[in-house]
Amino acid sequence: MPLFDFHCSACNKSLELLVKSDAKPVCPDCGAELAKLVSCPVAPGGSAAIIASARRRAASEGHFSNYKPSERPRGK
Ligand SMILES: [Zn+2]
Repeated sequence: MPLFDFHCSACNKSLELLVKSDAKPVCPDCGAELAKLVSCPVAPGGSAAIIASARRRAASEGHFSNYKPSERPRGK
């Protein structure tokens, strides 16, 4: 399932939830219906380049948070 960003207008906080695309999640704190955030719209075909550049920058800074554990260099 995809991970989406949601915002609770009642609590004024944002959270990430794994939801089905047609689900209407509610705030775990107050029970209000959450608004799905459409953050970081990416042009078709652009996401791979964005991820690649983010990974290059992260690697140059000495961390690998953008990598899956299986993709990280051994010994780190
Ligand atoms: Zn809430």
